[in-house]
Amino acid sequence: MRLLLLGGTSEARELAALLVEAGVDVTTSLAGRVARPRLPVGKVRIGGFGGVSGLRAALTDYDAVVDATHPFALGMTANAAAACTDLPLLRLERPGWDPDPAWHHADTHEEAARRAAQLGTRPFLTVGRQELARFVPDLGRHAVLARVVDVPDLDPPAAWRLVTSRGPYRLDGELELMREHRSDVLVTKDSGGTYTWPKMAAARELGVPVVVVRRPPGPPGVPTVHDVAAAFDWVTDLV
Ligand code: NAP
Repeated sequence: MRLLLLGGTSEARELAALLVEAGVDVTTSLAGRVARPRLPVGKVRIGGFGGVSGLRAALTDYDAVVDATHPFALGMTANAAAACTDLPLLRLERPGWDPDPAWHHADTHEEAARRAAQLGTRPFLTVGRQELARFVPDLGRHAVLARVVDVPDLDPPAAWRLVTSRGPYRLDGELELMREHRSDVLVTKDSGGTYTWPKMAAARELGVPVVVVRRPPGPPGVPTVHDVAAAFDWVTDLV
């Protein structure tokens, strides 16, 4: 049983560890976006496949695929669904956060930018490096604090401050950062999970409004589970 595990998430690393321990031949695939990725146990390959056709060609080396990429990694998830016509494919997607009625929801990053501009003047952006450009038209003159894992390609507006760091985060650190910046609105994707939750708790404690970008819909027709244990069972049942 040779499993291709599309990764880049903590769940993918947890699943790889469990499956390797159970004797499954796991290869985790990473996009190669982060300079120093946290590497899972088992085999690792790094870099894009070259679209659906490249992925299809790569799949000849595998018996099944688990797509455990981030809920917002739309392109990879769509490619996996399109390429896995002859191979079993499972989507592992962590649940979104339980919605708080006080949150402001947006369907796109552009809508989130407009909403944040209405709500505050000192936004704290935690939407990922690749999305930052979508916030410049509405928030280019705001005193933005943008937190990213790696420095973005984008030349940030003069009024913006970038901080680079990687979760998991703690409540006390998030409170300190938001107080120091005097954040008056927080913008985030509905990433779910615990690694980045403390900023939400900090915003609640400080009375800072939160704008949450809704998740894109999952891949139609692809069996989906929401926790690592269920994905482990799916793979071991195949074995
Ligand atoms: P994306 O927009 O869905 O993917 C764009 C392209 O990047 C894909 O078509 C594929 O290139 C390549 N790619 C993405 N994930 C890959 C993987 N695991 N292995 C090999 N190639 C991959 O992806 P993204 O949102 O940039 O995310 C990139 C990686 O970061 C993913 O592994 C994801 O789990 C992780 N991540 C994303 C977010 C987020 O907010 N989007 C947050 C945390 C972690 P080809 O077409 O050439 O195959």
